[in-house]
Amino acid sequence: MLKRIYLVFLAISLILISACGQTSSSNKKEKPVIKIGYLPITHAGPLYMLAHVNGGEFEHYKIEMVKFGSWPDLMDALNAGKIDGASVLIELAMKAKEQGIDLKAVALGHKDGNVMITSPEIKETKDLVGKTYAIPHKFSSHNLLLNEMMKKDGLRYEDVNVVEMPPPEMPAALAEKRIAGYVVAEPFGAISVVLGHGKVHYHSEEVWPSSYCCVLVLRNDFIKKHRKATREFVKQYVQSGKSAHKKDDEVFQAFGKFMQVEDEVLKLSLEWISYDELRIEKDEYDKVSQIMVEMGLSEQPPAYGEFVDNSFMDKLK
Ligand code: ZN
Repeated sequence: MLKRIYLVFLAISLILISACGQTSSSNKKEKPVIKIGYLPITHAGPLYMLAHVNGGEFEHYKIEMVKFGSWPDLMDALNAGKIDGASVLIELAMKAKEQGIDLKAVALGHKDGNVMITSPEIKETKDLVGKTYAIPHKFSSHNLLLNEMMKKDGLRYEDVNVVEMPPPEMPAALAEKRIAGYVVAEPFGAISVVLGHGKVHYHSEEVWPSSYCCVLVLRNDFIKKHRKATREFVKQYVQSGKSAHKKDDEVFQAFGKFMQVEDEVLKLSLEWISYDELRIEKDEYDKVSQIMVEMGLSEQPPAYGEFVDNSFMDKLK
């Protein structure tokens, strides 16, 4: 009998201890940390502003910026869930989604802001025939822009020798005449212009108006688990885009924390880019899909409704 009373007492004690434990842990609920991958390029500007404001800590979340040296490394981390999201080339994100990674694109990284660079002696696009032209990755808007430029000027994509090259190498490769031109994320185009080794052959909007390039993607498992944090994050991101678009002294300070670039180069690459309208629109998205299929880069790109989630951005209006 005494033993039974003792056991009941022990059970009640354990229940009380575990109940107290639960209460104290729920009181201490931590804000989620959103780990966002980026490459140190002008195109990730809204993230730099966001991480710069309030030291990157907000009411419902904190942001941790995770720097990568290449797109494949960033995509491996994103696909494996080592980061929660990224500012990434839309084609790479669409390809990952096509391959079954559950990603959602919630905003653009920027609009415009790419230039087709050539060495000074290239006067017309046909001067590039038989020459080597560099792109950062086959799944990039830069590759698609090259395709559009060749079509626009009555040439074929195959008329140039296309090579993939790490972006930081491109200005030196152009200066050393190893390549006749390149198209890549900024500030690598502006570097050649400022140094005088290259010139702007076309601005992206002359070849493909309103072309999309970088998008902000999040893993859908993160969104489902942290809706409140995601809502606040997207809101802050859009506001940060508007701050970046001012291109004022604060922008130079914020960008300087995340990318090593001379002010003169950054100033020029900021002249070419806009960050103020970051909603992903269906017509522009469908154009990306259509060119990817045409170039044999994708058989079945994800449908707009499956991949793009504008719900957070649309609630801001
Ligand atoms: Zn971009």
